[in-house]
Parts: sequence; C-alpha cells; structure tokens
Amino acid sequence: MTKTADDCIFCKIASGEMEVPLVYEDDHVVAFDDISPKSVVHTLIVPKEHIANLNDDPSPELLAQVFGAVPEVARIKGIDQSGYRIVQNNGDDACQTVHHLHVHLQGGEQLPV
Ligand code: 5GP
Ligand code: ZN
Repeated sequence: MTKTADDCIFCKIASGEMEVPLVYEDDHVVAFDDISPKSVVHTLIVPKEHIANLNDDPSPELLAQVFGAVPEVARIKGIDQSGYRIVQNNGDDACQTVHHLHVHLQGGEQLPV
C-alpha cells in the first residue's frame, strides 16, 4: 500500500481525495499545475508515495519514477523543444513549503539566468 501522510496536501491530490486537473498520471506519479505559478508553465511532478524530501530516504526506483516522468510532462505541456528547468527544494533554506517530495517543471518563456 502506498505510504501517505495525514494533512499532506500533495497526498490528498495524489490520492484523488482533493480533485485538481491532472496534467499527467501513471501508477507512481501525478503532475498538476502549481496553484501560484512563477512562470508561464509551472507544473509540479509528485510521487504518489509520501516522502518528505531527499533526506527521507527515497528509493532509487521512486526517484527514477519522478524524474523519469519529467520529459513526458514537458512534452504534454509543449515545452520539451523550447527548453525547461526543474527545481527540487529540500528544507527551510531552500524554502520548501510542502513537505512531500516534488519537482517543479518551469518554462514556456525565457527563464532568468
Ligand atoms: P516548495 O516551495 O515546497 O518547493 O513548493 C511548493 C509549491 O506548491 C509552491 O510553488 C506552491 O505554490 C504549490 N502549492 C501549494 N499548495 C498547493 C495546492 O494546493 N495546489 C497546487 N496546485 N499547488 C500548491
Ligand atoms: Zn504527502
């Protein structure tokens, strides 16, 4: 059974308890647009299993599932050819606000250096 956490917004979205339009879904990962986009395209790629961040001992398989979904989500968002950036925040100094591992996929415009 997939590990989840109470009061975790991304667990609720990943399980379907909270309905948001999904950009992508497979057996292990969901992707949905950020509620507060910082770029023209700003989509979050999230494992269905609750893992707080990279310090929470994610398995190599889980990391491959999350990062492996990035090119497909970029294709779906139409930014695979124009280019994109991924960001993954861990802990306070990185301003991680949702403590469920996620990758930000950003693009759709020229991003700052
Ligand atoms: P972090 O700073 O933890 O790396 O990024 C968390 C991201 O999740 C932020 O960009 C924030 O806007 C986004 N976010 C927080 N709550 C929600 C939500 O309920 N729905 C969606 N779609 N995005 C959210
Ligand atoms: Zn969670």
